Order: sequence, then C-alpha cells, then structure tokens
Amino acid sequence: MDRPTIHRLDEATVARIAAGEVITRPARVVAELVDNALDAGAERIAITVEGDGTDLIRVADDGCGLARADVERAIERHATSKLPAQTETDLTGVSTLGFRGEALAAIADCATLEIVTSDGDAVGTKLRVDDKVAVSNAGRAQGTTVTVTDLFADRPARRESLAAAAAEFGRISELLARYALAQPDVRFSLTHNGNETFSTSGSGLQDALLGIYDAETASRSTTIYHGTTLDDAGGSDLAVHGICCYPSVTRSTRDHVRISVGGRPVTDIGLRQAVLRGYGSLLAGNKYPIAAIDIDPPAGTVDPNVHPAKEEVRLTAREAIEMAVETAVSEALQTADARRTDTATTDLETELAAVDRSDPFGEIRVIGPFRDLYLLCEDGDELLIIDQHAAHERVNYERLRAAVADEGIPTAPIEPPETVSVDPAAAAAAESHADLLAELGFEVTPFGGSSLRVSGVPAPLGRVADTDALVETLGQLAAGHQPNDSRDELLADLACHPSLKAGDRLTMDEAEQLLDRLGECEQPFVCPHGRPTVCSLDESTLAAGFERGSTRFR
Ligand code: ADP
Ligand code: MG
Repeated sequence: MDRPTIHRLDEATVARIAAGEVITRPARVVAELVDNALDAGAERIAITVEGDGTDLIRVADDGCGLARADVERAIERHATSKLPAQTETDLTGVSTLGFRGEALAAIADCATLEIVTSDGDAVGTKLRVDDKVAVSNAGRAQGTTVTVTDLFADRPARRESLAAAAAEFGRISELLARYALAQPDVRFSLTHNGNETFSTSGSGLQDALLGIYDAETASRSTTIYHGTTLDDAGGSDLAVHGICCYPSVTRSTRDHVRISVGGRPVTDIGLRQAVLRGYGSLLAGNKYPIAAIDIDPPAGTVDPNVHPAKEEVRLTAREAIEMAVETAVSEALQTADARRTDTATTDLETELAAVDRSDPFGEIRVIGPFRDLYLLCEDGDELLIIDQHAAHERVNYERLRAAVADEGIPTAPIEPPETVSVDPAAAAAAESHADLLAELGFEVTPFGGSSLRVSGVPAPLGRVADTDALVETLGQLAAGHQPNDSRDELLADLACHPSLKAGDRLTMDEAEQLLDRLGECEQPFVCPHGRPTVCSLDESTLAAGFERGSTRFR
C-alpha cells in the first residue's frame, strides 16, 4: 500500500462532515482505532483492554505505519491521508473506513494518547500527547500501536454516563465480533485484563464464526455469495457475501444477525430484516438466526457520512439491495449441504444431528416405525430418523401455502355465528387489521365491548380453523407481528391440525408416500414451526460406538 501524506481537509469538506461527538464511550475508541488499522492495510490487529476500557485500550496493527513527518499531523483535527487534497470532496465515493480526520484528535482531547509507529524505516517514532506533545525515537517493526489511557479522566459527566465495566467491555467485545465477521481475512485478537477472550485466524468467515462462537456453530453454517445487477443504480453490480447458520442453530434475540457494508460494520434494521425474511418460515416465531452479511454495493451508491459514529450508511438502491440479500440468504439455505463435519465420537446423543442439506433423499429405504412416532430409514451410510408428525406438518404446510397463493384463503361459514370475547388490545387489532383478517378468511364483526362476532373461519383445502385460531392471530397482530408472519403462522397451525400424531401407525406404503412428498418440499428438513423433521446418525458413529475399526465398506 502506498503511503499518501496527511493534510488538512478544506473548509468546505469539513462543513459537510456529519456533526456529533466522536468519542462517547470506550467502544468508540476501539472502533476508531480498528478503522485506522484496517485502513492502513493491517492483516493482524491485536486489541488489549483493561477494566471498562477507560483504564487502557491498546490497538496494535501490522499496517503501513506512519512516517515521522506525518505522525504529528495525524493528531490534528480534520487532518487525514484518506481524502484527496482538493476542495469539496465528494464523500459518497470514499472507500476507506475513516475519512474525517477527527478520531485521533478527539481521543487526544479526552485521554492520554500514545502512538508508536514505523513505516518500515530503521527508526520508528513515538508520540505521546497528554498536556503537551512529546516525540522521540522508538524501535518497532512496521505497523502502529496506539495506546489510550485515562479516558474521560477530566470528564466526570462522561464517566458517570458509562455502564458497569462488564457492560462496557461487552460492547467492545460485540463490536470486535462484528469487525471480525465483516473483515474475515484479518486476524483479530481481544485480550481483557490479561486473558484472551477471542481470536480469529483471518482465514475466512467460517473461522471467524469459530472464533466468536464454537466449533459446533461454525460447522452448522453455509457461506453465501450472490452477485446481481442493480437496475436502479445504472446497471452496476452488487455483491452479497456472508455466512448463515442453519435454522437449527438459533438465538432468542436478533443481535446475532450482523450486517456490514463494504467491510464496515453497520446497524441497519432494513438489511437485518431482509436476512430474517430470507430464513422465512425456517425459524420459529421467537427464534433468530446467527448470520453475517456483507454487501458490496456499486461505487457511489453508499453515503457513509450520515452518522457521527459512522454506524449507519445511506444506500441509494436500498429496495433492490434488500431484495438481493433476502434472495441470497434463502437460496443459500435451500442449497446448503449441512452434513456434519465433526469427527465421530462415541457419544450417540451428541451425534444425533438435525439434517438440513440440499439433496433431500437419495436411495432411501424405509426400515420401519419406531414407537409409532419416528420412521427409521437407511440412506447410504446414514441412518435417518424422521419425525412423522413434523414431516407431515411440513408437507401439509407447503400444500396449504401453494393453494392459498393460487386461490386465496376460502372461508367456511359458522352457523349460528359465535361470539368471542377478547382483550382490548386484540379487539383493537381486529378493527385496525380488518382487511387482513378478511384476506386470511375470517369473517369478524365487532359485537360491543371487547366481543367479536365470528361468522366465518379460514378453511383452505378443507382444513377448518376454529375460533382459537382467530384469538391467536389477533394476539400476534396486537403484539406487533407483521401481517406476513401472522399469515404464515396461521397456515403453520392449520397444517398442524390434521397431521399425523404420535401413535398413528403408518403402513410401509404410507411411510414411503410421506417420504416422497417430503422430498418434494421446498424446505423438507424443518417443520413449519422451525423444528427439525429429520435427524441422521452416521455409520461411523455406530462403528465408533461398537469399537469397530472401520465402517461396512471401508
Ligand atoms: P481518519 O481516519 O479519518 O483519516 P484519524 O484521526 O483517525 O482520521 O487518523 C488521521 C490519520 O492518521 C489517518 O488519515 C492516517 O493517515 C493516520 N493513521 C491513523 N492511524 C493509523 C494507523 N494505525 N496506521 C497508519 N496510519 C494511521
Ligand atoms: Mg480514523
């Protein structure tokens, strides 16, 4: 990387910089220093934190370093090497993470700052800023180490506003998880109070997941690549990269869906929603996936200068980009080959893995029922165990969805109409979502107070809902669920009604038919409520369990 020199931005450009305080908490210091290391082309970034970060934050990189002449300029306000020295630079086109020349100046303002750096010259430079600026020689391999101590020491109000140490460190740790996933080719390590809390190997997204989570999580993931052309951005190209865990790996919050734009971690509700839509009905209602998506939109369609902490960006072809993300995720999940990659252990319980993979069933042979609840099948070197209720639900759900897409949801009349009393929030939801309810096949009229008169219920493919389904749907709408989710959940519940139950014994013919139908499903490996339909046990697991030296054919 060539080393442009640092200069002051012209006033016109400075005036256009999104205003706001740059350093508000320790995690912001880390973000700015990591941005700088990445902009310097670092392949390895080591972060050290003491306490809540106000005691010490150190970021060491192996990037291009700074020449002696540039170090002092680097800490001036609005001095940067990242924008050309011309007037009124267009900030929409910047490809570096930093561009405002503010961070080092802002940090030096509210903490003690020390920079040790070398651009590869025999003698490096150390610069220390507390009350005064001191420059001296220093020995260092090429790269830069920035150490920030006594953050907010003379700003009691800022210090007061910080959360407990564990929470401030938690923010730093989450921030670095986001960088590690946005920049999977860079090695990151984080050390807190002397202990390494995580590190990544810089060898791709799966390894980044491994560093942040564990081997099990990383092995149950699939990487994504999706390229597309954006018509609304003049026919330019958009690339979507990322990694998605299979739907069997879930969390109870959305925080594990991480988004970056051109390698910059951002908070973007719209793109996060697009990822969740990509998972669609694969997840149960209150479960969220683990995923990291980086989008690389065409030059000139991203404005990073809309947020003081650069945590948000403005996208010009947003709608098309969200669509591309949704498609990328759902395609990746549909074609994923999720065969487990773990080595076999003798622990049968942990070896029983939910199946989600691309080719449904090859030459599958039904062995027979187990406890009239599961079907055991042979599929190559795997023993498949199929939950017949979950499998049947999946088949029913997809049939219902197809029928509804073709013809809408038909209504079955209730005669005489039933009166249902609901809570006030549900009654309000019935009024404000009247159109949606009609579309779902409910015929509902207010009946005074919080009572509703129900004269018709949805009955797609002869599956008649009951008034409980209405109460449930209203509950979801009142809780703020999207109409689309409510519709999917209604269909999922209807799919459940007449599905096979535990204790229904299937004949061999029926079992084979069920498998054929399941194999034709778009998403055969999860039931509409997000539970697995098929688990598999590898022959090698049995071999290990029985202490056999090899499997049957090896
Ligand atoms: P910005 O990143 O917006 O340019 P900063 O105040 O963060 O502003 O940094 C000022 C300048 O100092 C940068 O433009 C860069 O030239 C130099 N610099 C900062 N950190 C590093 C680093 N880790 N390695 C090399 N150069 C750096
Ligand atoms: Mg910077």
